[in-house]
Amino acid sequence: MGESKLQKLVIVGGGTAGWIAAAAFARLLGRTIEIELVESDAIGTVGVGEATIPQIIRLNGILGLDEYDFLKHTHGTFKLGIEFVDWGRIGSSYLHTFGDAGLNLAGVPFHQYWKRASATGHTKDLWHYSLHRLAADQAKFGKLDRVGSTAMTGLAYAYHFDAGLYAKYLRAFAEQLGVTRTEGIVTSVTRDPESGDIDSITLEGEREVAGDFFIDCTGFRALLLGEELGVGYRDWSKWLPCNSAQAVPSERLDTLVPYTRATAKPSGWQWRIPLQHRTGNGHVYCSGFISDEEAGQTLLAGLDTKPLTDPRPIRFTTGRRERFWSHNCVAIGLSSGFLEPLESTSIHLIQSHVSRLIQLFPRGGGGSAERDEYNRRCAQEFEQIRDFLILHYKQTERDDSEFWNYCSHMDVPDSVSHKQELFASSGRVGRDADDLFREASWVQVMLGQGLTPASHDPMADSMSDAQLDEFLGNVRTVIEKAVHPLPSHEQFLAQHCQSV
Ligand code: FAD
Repeated sequence: MGESKLQKLVIVGGGTAGWIAAAAFARLLGRTIEIELVESDAIGTVGVGEATIPQIIRLNGILGLDEYDFLKHTHGTFKLGIEFVDWGRIGSSYLHTFGDAGLNLAGVPFHQYWKRASATGHTKDLWHYSLHRLAADQAKFGKLDRVGSTAMTGLAYAYHFDAGLYAKYLRAFAEQLGVTRTEGIVTSVTRDPESGDIDSITLEGEREVAGDFFIDCTGFRALLLGEELGVGYRDWSKWLPCNSAQAVPSERLDTLVPYTRATAKPSGWQWRIPLQHRTGNGHVYCSGFISDEEAGQTLLAGLDTKPLTDPRPIRFTTGRRERFWSHNCVAIGLSSGFLEPLESTSIHLIQSHVSRLIQLFPRGGGGSAERDEYNRRCAQEFEQIRDFLILHYKQTERDDSEFWNYCSHMDVPDSVSHKQELFASSGRVGRDADDLFREASWVQVMLGQGLTPASHDPMADSMSDAQLDEFLGNVRTVIEKAVHPLPSHEQFLAQHCQSV
C-alpha cells in the first residue's frame, strides 16, 4: 500500500456482508473516508442467512439501529437458542440456549452440581434448570436482565429475520450516512504493476471505479481476493462434509416459537426459522451420500407448513481463505470462507471481521503489521467455530446411515478430541479464553449429544446432600417465577415490533 492517507474505500458486493461493512464504516469512519459500494442486481445475493446469535445486538448498538424498528422492517422474531432434534441419537432433543442453566456458585459451574446430584439418583436433566428452555417450551419472550433478585442472568437472545429485507434496511441506513451505491457488474480489475495493489475495478459499460482500499463482499466467488489476488482456500470438508443446501420458504407457524430448530436427517440436517410472515426452511446435506432429488424430497417431507415456492439449491465448500487480507483488499462474508449454518455464525463472522478491520484500519502507509494481526485473529476465530461445529457431527451415537457412520468415525482435530476427553472425564470444558462459544454452550452440546462425564468437579462437594437438593429446588422455583409473567412471544412482537 502507498504512503498517502487512504481516502476512498470501495466495497464490492451488496449482500448482507457488503451492507454491514458499508453501514459500519460509514458510521465509524465516514467523516474521514469516502465509501462507494458496487453491486449487481442481475447477479443477486445468496438469499439465505436468517438466524443470528446474540452478538448481533452489539452490532446494532454500534450502528445505532432501533431494535424494534429493525425487526418491524425485516419480519423479525426473537431467538433464545437452537433446538437440536435427533442429533445424539434418533429421538433425542436438546436446546442449545444462549444462557446458562442454573447458577454458578462459588466459582463452580452449575452443571457440576447437577452432575453430582445425577450420580445419586436425581433424574431431572440439566435443562430443567434453564430459564431459556422453560420460556422456549412455553413460546414466551420478554426483556429480562436478571432472574428476580438472584445473581442469575436473564434472557439472552438474538433474532431471526428476512435476509433480503435486512440488507435493504442496512442499505437505506448506509446511504443516509453518505455511502454511494453503484449498480453494475465488475468485469475486470486493474492493479499497480509494482505493488500488486488493486487500483480500480471496471464495470460493464467500461465505467471505472478507483479506490485506495477494497473490501471483497462478492460472495462465494471471491472476485477480488480469490480470483484476482489468487489467495487460496483451505477446504475443511473432511470434518464438515455437508456441501449443499436446498432452501424453501413455507407458511408461517401457528405458534411463533422463539428458537431455531435443526433436525438431523440421514445425510445432513434441516433448519426451521420462524419469521412473522413465513417460515424459513432448508436442508443442508452432503451430496456424496444423497442425490439432490432425494434431498429436495426430504426437505419438503420435513416441513411443518405448506411450501410457498420450489426448493432452491445452493452449493458450498466449508473452509476458509488462506488469508483474509492481501495487498489493499480484505474479503468479508462468504468470500472469506464458509462455515455451514448449523450455529448461525456467518453473520456474526461478518460483523466481527468488519469491526476488527475498523480497529486495525490503516490510516495510510504500510499497514503490514495490521494486516498480519488481522489475518491471525480471523484464522483463529474461524478455527474455533469450526471445532464447535465438528463436535455436533462427531459426538453422536447415530449409526443408521453412511453419513452418520462417516461422521462418528472421522478423525477430528486434536483441539476437538481433547475437549471431548476432558469433558468425558470430569465435565470440565477446555475452551480457549477468546472462544466465541461460552462454556455453557460447550456443556449443552456435549451433554445434549450424549457425552456424559464420568465424575464431577470435587469443588461441587462443598455442600451437603440436603443443601444440594435445596439449591436445585430453589433454582427451579425462581426460574418458574420469572417465566410465569412473561408474555407470549407472539404478544411481545405484536406489542413492540409487528411487521410492517
Ligand atoms: P452474497 O449474499 O452472495 O452477496 C454477494 C454480492 O456480490 C451480491 O450483491 C452480488 O450482486 C455481488 N457480486 C458478485 N459478483 C459480482 C460482480 N461481478 N459484480 C458486481 N457485484 C457482484 N448466516 C447466518 O448468520 N445465519 C444463517 O442462518 C445462515 N444460513 C445460511 C444457509 C445457507 C444454506 C448458506 C449458504 C448460508 C447461510 N448463512 C447464514 C450465511 C449468510 O447467508 C451469508 O453470510 C450472508 O448472506 C452474507 O453473504 P455475502 O454478502 O457474503 O454474499
